[in-house]
Amino acid sequence: METAEIRRRWLDFFEKAGHAVVPSAPLLYDDPNLLFVNAGMVPFKPYFLGQESAPWKRATSVQKCVRTLDIDEVGKTSRHGTFFQMNGNFSFGDYFKKDAIAFAWELLTTSQADGGYGLHPDRLWATVYHDDDEAAQMWLDQTDIPAERIVRRGMKDNYWSMGVPGPCGPCSEIFVDRGPEYGREGGPAVDEDRYMEIWNLVFMQNVRGEGGGKEDFPIVGELPAKSIDTGMGLERIASVLQGVDNLYEIDEVYPVLARAAEMSGKKYGAQSQHDAAHSHPDDVRLRVVADHVRSALMLIGDGVTPGNEGRGYVLRRMLRRAVRSMRLLGVDEPSLPQLLPVSMERMKQSYPELERDFGRISQVAYAEEEAFRRTLVAGTTILDTAVSKAKSTGSTHLSGDQAFALHDTYGFPIDLTLEMAAEHGLEVDETGFRRLMAEQRDRAKADARAKKSAHGDTTAYREVADLLGREVEFTGYDEIVSEARVAGVLLDGATVPSARAGEEIELVLDRTPFYAEGGGQLADGGRIELANGAVIEVRDVQKPIGGLIVHRATVVSGEVNAGEAAHALVDIDRRRAISRAHTATHMVHKAIREALGDTATQAGSENAPGRFRFDFNAQSAVPASVLTDVEARVNALLAEDLPVHAEIMTQQQAVDSGAMALFGEKYGDRVRVISVGDWARELCGGTHAQRSGQLGLVKLLGEASIGSGVRRVEALVGTDAYDFLAREHAVVGQLTEALKVRSEELPERINSILTRLKDAEREIGTMRQQQVLAAAASLAAGARDVYGVSFVGHDAGAGVGADDLRTLALDLRSRLGNERPAVVAVAGVAKDRPVVIVATNEAARQWGVKAGELVKVAATTLGGGGGGKDDVAQGGGTDAGKVGEALARVEHTVGERVTASR
Ligand code: ATP
Ligand code: MG
Repeated sequence: METAEIRRRWLDFFEKAGHAVVPSAPLLYDDPNLLFVNAGMVPFKPYFLGQESAPWKRATSVQKCVRTLDIDEVGKTSRHGTFFQMNGNFSFGDYFKKDAIAFAWELLTTSQADGGYGLHPDRLWATVYHDDDEAAQMWLDQTDIPAERIVRRGMKDNYWSMGVPGPCGPCSEIFVDRGPEYGREGGPAVDEDRYMEIWNLVFMQNVRGEGGGKEDFPIVGELPAKSIDTGMGLERIASVLQGVDNLYEIDEVYPVLARAAEMSGKKYGAQSQHDAAHSHPDDVRLRVVADHVRSALMLIGDGVTPGNEGRGYVLRRMLRRAVRSMRLLGVDEPSLPQLLPVSMERMKQSYPELERDFGRISQVAYAEEEAFRRTLVAGTTILDTAVSKAKSTGSTHLSGDQAFALHDTYGFPIDLTLEMAAEHGLEVDETGFRRLMAEQRDRAKADARAKKSAHGDTTAYREVADLLGREVEFTGYDEIVSEARVAGVLLDGATVPSARAGEEIELVLDRTPFYAEGGGQLADGGRIELANGAVIEVRDVQKPIGGLIVHRATVVSGEVNAGEAAHALVDIDRRRAISRAHTATHMVHKAIREALGDTATQAGSENAPGRFRFDFNAQSAVPASVLTDVEARVNALLAEDLPVHAEIMTQQQAVDSGAMALFGEKYGDRVRVISVGDWARELCGGTHAQRSGQLGLVKLLGEASIGSGVRRVEALVGTDAYDFLAREHAVVGQLTEALKVRSEELPERINSILTRLKDAEREIGTMRQQQVLAAAASLAAGARDVYGVSFVGHDAGAGVGADDLRTLALDLRSRLGNERPAVVAVAGVAKDRPVVIVATNEAARQWGVKAGELVKVAATTLGGGGGGKDDVAQGGGTDAGKVGEALARVEHTVGERVTASR
């Protein structure tokens, strides 16, 4: 049965059983604790936590998930993908254990002809929490599973919580026995690859208390409304129903694996057994490629771009691992252009947007592969240098430092360093490398802790939110002054009843016109006055947890008490300047997409008073002419004074109206769409100007790369743009004044000045060289005899470059001829640094006098280093005062060599 069919049957089955079918939320989700959605229940969390009331009593979904922790399992077990889809059915205070078990059993064992999955009951096992007699009894009573295949397990395996105080409960997992080829007899406790977990039923019935660890925490009560959360791995059940060995061989994944095998000329599976534990390394690599290519496709599809931290890093790591695995399989050419389209073709059945967005997705992926290939080239050069250095000192090791530097500076993975060092017969000090890595990790952790402790703990915010009992109402779209009430006061991260003048507090109002930083828009500033006369200055506004707006503020005078009536006044100039910038950002976004195509999607922005920056996806620099056009287009539309308006609509309506969809919207939410005339339409929660005319002027300051595939434009708006242009104008004025030309003649005049300057410099150079060479004849005539060697030692003084010195040295050498041994040493000082060149003729070399050796003597005296061939060598140092001494030493050494060789 095809994966798409399994998915269809799932949704049909639960829809028929009264569940609302909810589409998958995007992988990027607005949850501060999660990098990516990692389970089907994530989008429903607020309902389970009781923060919001669920719009349905029952729901079902097939949720896209990414589990970064499973990355190291990929290919080595049969059942872990980094990306996978979790089928779920959910009850919000509606049905409970009994029905959850009955549904699961029915769907799994109903024959395929009757719309089920048709699994034979003899293959199924169930686990229950050790004291959940109720569930155990239900499995016995309601299904055909015999008592010996109902296994009781402890908290670690069979008890679920969110890791914090709140709902929790026992779970019951369903396993499929895949048969003796896959491992040992004895049930899930013995072999989790043979007995594969396919479905986890969570019974939310209790309340977790404060404290405790992962496997033992206090359970302090029962939930008034019990809920169900289940998760079945779509890929896992597909591997069972398709009769393949693992989830990399199912219809949605295998074609990529097959393509990779073909490219590398490997015969997949030929050297492995059915169970993942007995797999050939090449087969594991092929699975890694297939898994990571698909995960990258899905991640980029949902708006992730490769980067060096967080989500971007996860994506980068997957892409690089895929490319790297291909290399290990012997494929050196770019791989993604051959693999990614195969994955897209398979996945588009369930996710049609992948095909639509494939231009953008592939661009991002291919660029990352190119970048990584360049890294490999750069790193290889460095590695080769390190290898030859190690060899020249007779070492058989590369140090941990070197491996670490390769990793840290060039992004060179350690396994690659190991492999390539081995090719050169060298070992790598891996222990040293790991120690340095660990040290770096510790530093990073300490850093993260330091950052986190600032506002990491959300307990106090939750307290205030609970007390308020609803979301803070944001009134700022319609007014900039609001009447409100103090809902909570926080001091140093804890709630307090009151605060006094001079204290830095965090203040929560039940409603507020202050915009909290978000969606790229900076926070409002302003003032809050209380009925008791207290005055508070607002510095910053944040949303530390969903639904709560917190003003970071200083109490200027009076006393701030919870419950007090408040008069909140937003700083209107700041707000207007920010709003103008935000509207300008939308317009520039739209104009850039008109110019570059729809792949130029937004990758970030910051809207500040009078200025903004806008990041977007583009693989190469945007030509200046395009930026000029974008700027002209936007400014022309300012003059048209387009109305800007906001509308609330469903996501579908937004998409239909052509709004540029951004990522991370929660499904089911109604969205706010901002339109500038009929022209730019975008999902946005920010504040805006009322008409485009209010922006006055938009000036783009330029464009630059800020990372692979992301470009940034910075711009000024309104009076800030005017001030900038006025300053530029003044500068032009000064230049026309100084150069005595009209402004349009400036470029040409400056060019001609520069050309003349260069010509003059060249002329000076030639003259200096002639001067230096002019001295040559008399210098050669004055050569001294050092034990039979003609020796010239000359200090050319300051301002003579190394090239001139070299020319002089070679000229002198040829003047001295080859009749008898000759050595020339000339030195000079350029930019405060002494340089010395030594040249020897053939006869001198036969006497054992070598330039490279002599230059070292000189350079050491000068406090530096140098080297070169036997005939000409160059060195330098730092101590310009020792040039004379250096030349004398050279002469002395010549003497030594000659006397020694006789
Ligand atoms: P395992 O112990 O096998 O890693 P788990 O306990 O982490 O599984 P749950 O967190 O209970 O799994 O997730 C619910 C279901 O999601 C599992 O029963 C399984 O079918 C599926 N699942 C979990 N992790 C993965 C993964 N990395 N790849 C594919 N499916 C997965
Ligand atoms: Mg797991």
